[in-house]
Amino acid sequence: MLIKLWGVRGSIPSPLSNKEYKHKIKRILEKAVASELTASEINSFINELPADLRYIYGGNTTCVSVVSNSGKIYIIDCGTGLRELGYELMKGPCGRGEGEVNFFITHNHWDHLQGLPFFNPIYVPGNILNFYSPYKNQRDILIQQQSAPFFPGKFEETPSTKNVIQLDAAGRTPVQLEDNLVIDFYPLKHPFGSFAYRFKEGDKTFIFATDAEFTGEILEKIDNKTDFFMNADLLIIDSQYTLQESFLKIDWGHTSYTMAVNCGVRWKVKHLVLTHHEPAYSDSKLLDISGKAIEHGKLINNEKTKIKMAREGMTFKL
Ligand SMILES: [Zn+2]
Ligand SMILES: [Zn+2]
Repeated sequence: MLIKLWGVRGSIPSPLSNKEYKHKIKRILEKAVASELTASEINSFINELPADLRYIYGGNTTCVSVVSNSGKIYIIDCGTGLRELGYELMKGPCGRGEGEVNFFITHNHWDHLQGLPFFNPIYVPGNILNFYSPYKNQRDILIQQQSAPFFPGKFEETPSTKNVIQLDAAGRTPVQLEDNLVIDFYPLKHPFGSFAYRFKEGDKTFIFATDAEFTGEILEKIDNKTDFFMNADLLIIDSQYTLQESFLKIDWGHTSYTMAVNCGVRWKVKHLVLTHHEPAYSDSKLLDISGKAIEHGKLINNEKTKIKMAREGMTFKL
C-alpha cells in the first residue's frame, strides 16, 4: 500500500498567511546571513532548516489516497486536498475516461466534502466513482452540497458514473475488495458521528481515525470491545488541539495531541501520525506540538511508536 496525504488541516481550509510567510522568510534569511551561505550550499542549507521553515504543514482539509499493491486507488474523504489529487489522477486513466476510484467517507462535515466539486475526474465521461459510506442518505448529501445556490454544476449532472455503496453501519461487515485488500470501519465520538477506516493488505495495516474525540473513558470502552486499533503499521489520528485547548472544547469531537499519543502507544502502533490540525495553529506551533508529542511519548514509556505530524504531500509505503 502507498498512502499519501493531500489534506491535513481540520475544520476549514487555512492557507499560509502573508504575515506567516514573511516571518518564515525573515528567519531563513537571518540563518543564511549567520552561516555566511554561498550559492553552492543552498540545497544543503534548505535541507538542514527546521521543519517549520523547510515545509508548510499545509492548509487543505482532509483527503488521503491509498494505492493498493495492484495499483487500484482508494480515497478517504473529499476535503479540499482532493482538488490536487484530481490533477494527479487526470494524468492517468481518469484523464481518458477509463478511471475507477473508490471513496470512503468518514462523515459529512464540510471540511470532508468540499473538494468534490473541484475533483476534475468527476467531469470526465466514462470514469466510475464509487462512494462507500455507512450513512443511509449519502447520495442525497452529495447532491445537496453540490447544488444551487452553493455551486453552479449539479452533482447528478456531472458526466461520470457515480455509485453509492451502503456500508453496514450496525453489523460493520468488512468490505472485501480485489487485490487482497480488506477494509473495515469503526464508529467514533464526533458531532453526528464519524467512522475510522482500517485497510489491510497482506500483513500490513493502515488505520485512519480522524474527527474523533478520544478520552480515557472511551479508550477503556474500545479496549473492552475490540482490537480494531491494535498493532497497526500506521495510524493517522485526530490531534486537533493542545491539551489546554481540549479542556475548553469538550464534546467538540476532537482530540489533544497528548491523548492521541496515549492512543498510539496503548495500541502499540508502529507509526503514529497526528492530523486534522487546528486552523489557527501556525507551522511554528505545529512544530512545537510535534516535539512535545514525542516528549509526551517518552514520559509514558513509549519505546515502539514513532510519532510524526501530518504534512501535505507526506507518503508512507507499507
Ligand atoms: Zn473535520
Ligand atoms: Zn467533523
